[in-house]
Amino acid sequence: MSRTAVVTGSNSGIGLATAHRLAAIGCTVVINSFTDRKEDHDLAAQIAREHGTTVVYRKADMADGDACRDLIAWAGKEFGSVDILVNNAGIQHVAPVETFPVDEWNRIIAINLNSNFHTIAVALPMMRKRGWGRIVNIASAHGLRASVNKSAYVAAKHGVVGLTKTVALETAGQGITCNAVCPGFVLTPLVEVQVQDRMKEHPDLDRDTVVRDIILAKQPSKQFAQISEIAAAAMYLISDDAASVTGTTISIDGGWTAQ
Ligand code: NAD
Repeated sequence: MSRTAVVTGSNSGIGLATAHRLAAIGCTVVINSFTDRKEDHDLAAQIAREHGTTVVYRKADMADGDACRDLIAWAGKEFGSVDILVNNAGIQHVAPVETFPVDEWNRIIAINLNSNFHTIAVALPMMRKRGWGRIVNIASAHGLRASVNKSAYVAAKHGVVGLTKTVALETAGQGITCNAVCPGFVLTPLVEVQVQDRMKEHPDLDRDTVVRDIILAKQPSKQFAQISEIAAAAMYLISDDAASVTGTTISIDGGWTAQ
């Protein structure tokens, strides 16, 4: 498949795994984060070498709406179009709502929700022009369920699910699909921070107990979902086999949202 894909927030975790898979099927891939280090560009070069396709790293801070829009416009100009958009960049902050820092609230809403709006808005005209497009928003089980102390994240991810449905309706019948993947807990740097924080709160408990009883309290499988499972779902959603799958969510959460 000769398509151009942009994966936001993809120098780590789920985004990086998805970028690898897209490169493996021959897509031109733009990987992204807010840094501009040599290792970011080296990472792109390494993925390109591994899969024999074009992979470039482009700095853009997903907290900044203009930067989100510029990223997609740049990719379209550089490679002719953006056919596949994976909105993956995300951050977390945990605090009760009454003491939730305002700047953390604004940052989570900007990166986890607003960036999806900005990138989609610029990508859609390009997809319409070609009569083909795939938008995969990496939401969360927290796009479908709430947890205490995660007000901004839950609000943002519920927003992503709503945006996903709306974009699906606005693109129905145009060769474009828009879906959300809703992972439960996956052991990435984003979750490792939460494991470390909970271990500090419970110095009497070992790591396995903290993971099983506290982190995975809501995940009945008591196992982390794997990064590879999330990337595989994204690949299904971009495939022709998923041409009629739009406006929906795919949960990969060990049974969390079955409850
Ligand atoms: P991660 O920390 O490994 O990856 C997050 C990525 O976002 C990184 O590449 C980071 O550089 C990038 N990023 C952060 N701030 C950015 C910014 N301002 N601009 C551009 N990029 C930025 O974590 P992950 O778990 O792979 O998270 C990926 C997505 O999956 C997030 O949207 C997250 O909410 C979602 N998710 C993760 C889990 C989980 O358990 N790990 C569960 C559900 C949903």
